Amino acid sequence: MRTTGLLILALALAYPASAEEPRDGYWSEEQVGEILDVTLRLRLDPDLSHLTDAERAALPELLAAGRVMNDLYETQKHAEALDARRLLESLRTEDQGQRVLGLIDLYYMSKGPVATTLDNQRLPFLPVGDETDGKNVYPRDLSRTEIDAFVAANPEDSTRLKSERHVVRRVTADDISADLAMLDAHPGVDALHPALRSYLESKQSTGSGLYAVPYALAYAPQLAVARAHLEKAAAILADGTPDFADYLRLRARDFLSSDYEASDAAWVSGTFGNLNMQIGSYETYDDSLLGVKAFFSASLLARDPEKSAALERAVAGLQSIEDALPYDSNRTVRSNIPVGAYNIVADFGQARGTNTATILPNDADHTRKYGRTILVRYNILANPELFDNRTTRYAAVVATDYRDHLTMDGGFDRTLWHEVGHYLGVDKTADGVSLDEALADYADLLEEMKSDLVSLFAAPALRAAGYYDDDGMRAHYADGIRRTLQTVRRRPTQPYQNMQLMQFNYFMENGLIEPQADTGLLMVHYDRYHETATELLRQVLEIQRSGDRALARDFVNRWNYWDERLHGEVAADMRESMKYRRSIVKYAALGD
Ligand SMILES: [Zn+2]
Repeated sequence: MRTTGLLILALALAYPASAEEPRDGYWSEEQVGEILDVTLRLRLDPDLSHLTDAERAALPELLAAGRVMNDLYETQKHAEALDARRLLESLRTEDQGQRVLGLIDLYYMSKGPVATTLDNQRLPFLPVGDETDGKNVYPRDLSRTEIDAFVAANPEDSTRLKSERHVVRRVTADDISADLAMLDAHPGVDALHPALRSYLESKQSTGSGLYAVPYALAYAPQLAVARAHLEKAAAILADGTPDFADYLRLRARDFLSSDYEASDAAWVSGTFGNLNMQIGSYETYDDSLLGVKAFFSASLLARDPEKSAALERAVAGLQSIEDALPYDSNRTVRSNIPVGAYNIVADFGQARGTNTATILPNDADHTRKYGRTILVRYNILANPELFDNRTTRYAAVVATDYRDHLTMDGGFDRTLWHEVGHYLGVDKTADGVSLDEALADYADLLEEMKSDLVSLFAAPALRAAGYYDDDGMRAHYADGIRRTLQTVRRRPTQPYQNMQLMQFNYFMENGLIEPQADTGLLMVHYDRYHETATELLRQVLEIQRSGDRALARDFVNRWNYWDERLHGEVAADMRESMKYRRSIVKYAALGD
């Protein structure tokens, strides 16, 4: 805990230093302004008039549970996050003017005290420690080499250390005692983890090395609060929407076990009313050390009944697309997958932002047994300001003839079929290992790349089935190109940006996109689209099937290159055209 730094921040903000006396550790109004000036502010205020009285009455409880997820997420990302936030909030009330308000906005947007600069660096803007690859779910100084060596010497610890819902710690007498005391204080956790006590005691006697505790224990007090809110919401909803109530109650219980199987099954299979909620820890994007730890999030969603029915019709007949995929498999996929169009009421933690769709759960066994739910986030996808921002950027770098090819529907279709793409293709390696485990830090990148490419691969089949007309298919394709264009040079730890860049490079080298000789603006050779996307998809599926991390690394190294004269120019042209490079999303339901 670095309270000293935060105290200095408090003093510095309360008694602003003169311009010639800059203090270390927090950003100036100018530094903050540089980012906030190019930030689009959105406020989501969906129509909730179709909610039943019970659904309306449950909202405050569900939002309160979401707030717990938000705090947990920020804690997972940075050990000093919540202290820094509380300090900033306390200064707001003292009317400290633009500097504090700007820092509060930046914290909100960054979901913690470390911001991404406009040239894509991660820097603390408050006097806190630097961000580490493993964030706050591993010891600060732990390297991949060290954990690999430890696991090699202690194979029996591998499962715990690499589990998606375990925090890794160094063995110290204090930490183990604290964990044992926490276990005493939470008998529910103790009961649902029968081997945990003896495991902790055995680690205590070794005196050194690494150990791991389930989130259920590491975050027991916070999860107890979330559970209470979910239980209350479930009681309110039990009569009107029993499936939703059951799901919430099971999820509350699963917070005690850190095993979501029961509640995932209830979530994916149940028939809910007008509300849905994603809540818990699922996505591993924030773990840049091993790529396995899940981070907390919540999304409270209001279902759009007509658009949802249209989506369900659209994704019928998935098996034929699965069967056509360029890999050798007899996989049977569900013909009937739960998909819905939702308006976001409020997002929390990892889920907060302009993410356009979600498909969960990720666990391959749960997916096989129960399927996955696809939540299309309609009031983000159909937001006119976000669409304007995308089209302006695209028009700045493609040749004149191609500028009008993006449409809102094209973006919607590409996104929807990206999510469906997660449903299809390789779900485990040929010898039955999970992709996360086998491909480790390359797993997310390849999975996202596969889904992008399945979306593009499906286009001709969708056209043939009458899902859209020629213009609709072209818009789907155009959005596939837009998706690959980078406005800044990526960091090696950003799975989405890297796999997009890789597609761009592959498309360039294979003549799907080509710069115009005179202007340098990009042309899209649609006639080469299917062949090119299919071949790249074939390679991705092959690597996933092999589970060979070295092969994955070679593949990524082959394709994720960046040339300032090409990528740098495209990025600069897009940046120049864009009014907004960031966004802050606020929610009417939270009183924003
Ligand atoms: Zn995805």
